[in-house]
Amino acid sequence: MTLSTRHLLGIKDLTAQDISLILQTAQEFKEVLQRPIKKVPSLRDVTIVNLFFENSTRTRISFELAEKRLSADTVNFTASGSSVSKGETLLDTVNNILSMKVDMVVMRHSASGAPHFLAKHIPAAIINAGDGINEHPTQALLDALSIKEKHGTLEGVKVAIIGDIMHSRVAQSNLYLLNKMGAEVVVCGPPTLIPKHLSEAFGVRVEYNLRKALEWCDVANVLRIQLERQNEVLFSSLREYNLAYGISRRLLDSLPKPITIMHPGPINRGVELDSDVANSDQSIILQQVENGVAVRMAALYLLSNRQNA
Ligand code: ASP
Repeated sequence: MTLSTRHLLGIKDLTAQDISLILQTAQEFKEVLQRPIKKVPSLRDVTIVNLFFENSTRTRISFELAEKRLSADTVNFTASGSSVSKGETLLDTVNNILSMKVDMVVMRHSASGAPHFLAKHIPAAIINAGDGINEHPTQALLDALSIKEKHGTLEGVKVAIIGDIMHSRVAQSNLYLLNKMGAEVVVCGPPTLIPKHLSEAFGVRVEYNLRKALEWCDVANVLRIQLERQNEVLFSSLREYNLAYGISRRLLDSLPKPITIMHPGPINRGVELDSDVANSDQSIILQQVENGVAVRMAALYLLSNRQNA
């Protein structure tokens, strides 16, 4: 089986079959990651450049590890300290890197659509590691794998996506994925942080009351307040946000059933999640990080097979 696409630009472009294939392959790679020797030769002779024009901790380390576990040759680029700060265009930077014979590009950029632009101009396979407020496909895939492991399936699972939906590429990729895979979704947050068109675009229910969303769901995927992506004041203070939308241990314990807590990281402890919730045994935040490596191995492996097909 192969993917229907040459690039991984967004979940929007994937079929349900593509998503299942990536998740199944990731499960196989997870077994490899449990072995004493965690390395397979699958991407030997494949050269991958990691282009990070925007800060990242988890995603960058996770891609680098995934590439190493697959025996790829890798080059890392971060915008600070590069010629980007001297005014070089995105296409010039990338063309220079490609003339060094690179097969795949993993890219994070603060501009929505940047990886789609590159895909039109260069022959390498492109993986979007987060573009502006658009998509973060590998995050949605690792979230899906984590939900599947915990709840056995995605079909019919009730997921509440909570917080700053408006500025979150994680929310958008999750919405596409959960819709395609038959999960039920509610988005919850202050009205100023939920785009108006959302319920028509994705057919999801919007719930402004946090308690109601939590009482309904099996899984709460809690998002970070993306202060760096907001250019106007959309809520009065972080303290007030925490009072209305922060999840505390007391709130969690008062729900009719135990729910699963997820967060893509980095967590603003004491804002969207209290520390004792993030650290509780209902939280699968560290399993998400662990699954990130396997999911990225799967995506890289399947795209490289597609390139050679
Ligand atoms: N790490 C995720 C992202 O890159 C989530 C976040 O930054 O809040 O979008």
